[in-house]
Amino acid sequence: MSTTDRTGACLCGAVRFTASAVRSDYGACHCEMCRRWTGSVFLGVSVPEGDLIWEGSENIRRYVSSDWAERAWCDRCGANLWYAVTVDGPHKGTLEIPLGLFDDPNGFELQRELYFDIAPDSFAIAGERQKMTAEETRRRFGGEATP
Ligand SMILES: [Zn+2]
Ligand SMILES: [Zn+2]
Repeated sequence: MSTTDRTGACLCGAVRFTASAVRSDYGACHCEMCRRWTGSVFLGVSVPEGDLIWEGSENIRRYVSSDWAERAWCDRCGANLWYAVTVDGPHKGTLEIPLGLFDDPNGFELQRELYFDIAPDSFAIAGERQKMTAEETRRRFGGEATP
């Protein structure tokens, strides 16, 4: 698994980040909350919180989307900034950053699709990868599964 330093920003540029040692693999989530949050499907790159340096963080707002997770956005332009688990456990401390925020979103590999069984039939992401149903996703991630 290759890693590299990457930069990114929200739509208006008020919030910027530098992420060190970013993994090349990422995942897609078709759950209902991610669908409504993104308008389609959430493509998220996992980055440990400690590997991120934020600029313009005074513009960041958070929405507590469930008992175990929050979603953040830029208060100036509305761009989504991350999904994060907030309860103690193996996933806490890792932010799921939308792929589209990266200044160069190339070179990543989509390796898993979550909640695949409830993905709308209006579009599909081409290619073969691990596809987990809602039940499989919950079984693997327990109470910390998205949403
Ligand atoms: Zn913004
Ligand atoms: Zn989701």
